[in-house]
Amino acid sequence: MLELLRRLIQDVNDADSLEDALNLIVAQVRAAMRTDVCTIYLHDKASQKLIFRATEGLNSDKVGQFGLGFDEGLVGWVATREEPLNLDNAIAHPQFQLVDGLGEEPFNAFLGAPIIHQRDLLGVLVVQQGDHRRFSEDEEAFLVTVSAQLAGVIAHAELAGAIGQTVSVTTTGDTAARLSGVAACAGIGIGTAAWISPVADLQTVPSRKVDDRVAELRAFRDALASVRSDIQQVADNLKSELGPEDHALFGVYLSILDDSVLGSEVAALIKAGEWAQGALSQVMLRHIRHFERLDHSYLRERAVDVRDLGTRVLSYLQDASRQEVDYPASTVLVAEELTAATLGEIPRDRLAGIVSMRGSANSHTAILARAMGIPAVVGVEDLPLKRLPDQRLVVDGYNGRVYVNPHSDLLARFEALLAEDEALFEELAPLASQPAQTSDGKIIPLWVNTGVAADVQRAREFGAEGVGLYRTEVSFLLRDRFPSEEEQRQLYREQLAAFHPAPVTMRTLDIGGDKALPYFPIEESNPFLGWRGIRVTLDHPEIFLTQVRAMLKANEGLGNLRILLPMVTAIDELRSARALIGRCHDEVLSEGFTAPLPDIGVMIEVPAAVYLAGPLAQEADFLSVGSNDLTQYLLAVDRGNARVAALYQALHPAVLAAFAHIIKAAHGENKSVSICGELAGDPRAAPLLVGMGFDQLSMNAGSLSLVKRVLSAFSAAELADLMATLLPLRSAQEVMAALDAALSQRGLDIFLRRRGDE
Ligand code: PEP
Ligand code: MG
Repeated sequence: MLELLRRLIQDVNDADSLEDALNLIVAQVRAAMRTDVCTIYLHDKASQKLIFRATEGLNSDKVGQFGLGFDEGLVGWVATREEPLNLDNAIAHPQFQLVDGLGEEPFNAFLGAPIIHQRDLLGVLVVQQGDHRRFSEDEEAFLVTVSAQLAGVIAHAELAGAIGQTVSVTTTGDTAARLSGVAACAGIGIGTAAWISPVADLQTVPSRKVDDRVAELRAFRDALASVRSDIQQVADNLKSELGPEDHALFGVYLSILDDSVLGSEVAALIKAGEWAQGALSQVMLRHIRHFERLDHSYLRERAVDVRDLGTRVLSYLQDASRQEVDYPASTVLVAEELTAATLGEIPRDRLAGIVSMRGSANSHTAILARAMGIPAVVGVEDLPLKRLPDQRLVVDGYNGRVYVNPHSDLLARFEALLAEDEALFEELAPLASQPAQTSDGKIIPLWVNTGVAADVQRAREFGAEGVGLYRTEVSFLLRDRFPSEEEQRQLYREQLAAFHPAPVTMRTLDIGGDKALPYFPIEESNPFLGWRGIRVTLDHPEIFLTQVRAMLKANEGLGNLRILLPMVTAIDELRSARALIGRCHDEVLSEGFTAPLPDIGVMIEVPAAVYLAGPLAQEADFLSVGSNDLTQYLLAVDRGNARVAALYQALHPAVLAAFAHIIKAAHGENKSVSICGELAGDPRAAPLLVGMGFDQLSMNAGSLSLVKRVLSAFSAAELADLMATLLPLRSAQEVMAALDAALSQRGLDIFLRRRGDE
């Protein structure tokens, strides 16, 4: 059954249209279950009907011609209850309804299963048979499994089918070309989609028409020749080490690449107007599937070789085309997974928005997008990647929506929002030179989070008063080996000097979890609960000591360094780190440096540290709450998993209770406590965080003015009142609604959640 399902899903995934996909499903399910009929009804949200969309066994002339209401027929029964219905005599059921000319009369046995995707009813899958019999439990289980598996594929095919239609304001509610994901960076981005594949992947290559077929053909032949020569080279190198039988394999490889076989098929597609990458991918995938289906295991294995060869050719093609790409002035980057490298591929001044299939708002690449201030929607699970390139997209980074080919009325609405945003930034620009303060003059220090070099410039532009979190690992991630002590010293010196005399809080290397160094791989089945942050650096004192020495030396003559320790769960970790820092300090003093011993702080990122906040505050010089991880660990919700993104609620009452506990513990020890997770930069959360008593908020530079503007609308007494209202609330939704109401009362609607949503 698994094999059957796998093939069915693969075929449906490759279908060119929703119609083809549905027809494939009904044909294959009917054959697999040996029933007389298989039918699919799809839910049309506009008419609230279940439309008869595909059938094998009933009158296919009726396809698309009628729909059943939720209170009509057995199909309506299945849809309403969202559970399977198994009957030996369908006609006897009180809700049975005969549709004229459909041809259902001869069929007595009925089995229907709802098709549900992400809580949404997409339709109903039905099989019918002439015999008076109840379908067996196995058959019922099979249909339920097929429908559960196909739900995602159908949702995907529906979206892909809708691309090409234009979306207007009046149709946004019922059209599929509005994609939903997770809002990762607020703002509106309008532009042309450009797709970047991080690595050569035959599966994700989009189809695209080209004019210059000769150039495409040439590119393909060049790529083919390069791979052929690579393989010949490998074959020659291994000649003496392999027996003639093994060596013959290379002959097979070379013949697969032969012009007369696969090459000619690819060339034919290119001549028909397809670009080389698309033609290659289509031909290779077809052959791979063919090999995979063969019963002979040796031949089946060849699918791996064909895939490998195809990937090699694709990689050459991608390398060649990469240098030529001239991105439009407003480009929306579309990717399966966002990486720092893909982000860097499109010049910043041309990047209008980002859309990715994977990831969630608090994955580290989303944080990078936010640092760059580019509207982003991530975790769009149903993203029809292959259909998007060259389409016009609107990225609604407020609500996590993407519109494909918006109609002029919809476009106008988003252009107006974009203009409003630009006007707001202009209006707020003078705030850059002023401190953040409440309406009655209470000053709140706002710091920035930095990581990439561009952050320093942006932080200065927006008037940062210090650095609350310098993510040192970013510069480690962008290299192919550990940076030396001197390289680090120079980097750290630039940071310290750029902000001097304002404090710069440098976090010691925080790798593991979703941050893997290419040259120091950590393979774990549960990385967020594994070797992360301080656990790695205490196990590798040589890495820690080098980094701390570089920091201390960089601090010479400046004295604005603070050191922050990530992922601390036990007091021993703080003590060990302190001892190592003390040792480094003695060493650099003995080498002639005059750097003072900096303040050492602890990040509160895990529940254990919340409960230990008192002792940690006593032994450290300051605390900083990493609300990104703290939310993840308190709520047991993976911060990078789009599927559970709705459960990742930084304003969950349990998270707020933890904040209150930490603040009380820190202040009880007369130590300061800041917050440096993404929540700190959310202008809507700022009144809450300041009202709770955080001493500093540390955020992306782009958020500074927004937060200043919101805070200036509240007096200290109003913040205290707001706290009294918010803290007893029992859900994140209630907290958000109360914050929205408080902002709205002060005329700050432009900052409200879900702004721009229809
Ligand atoms: C956090 O966890 O809140 C934090 C600031 O650290 P990072 O996002 O880098 O894990
Ligand atoms: Mg963290």
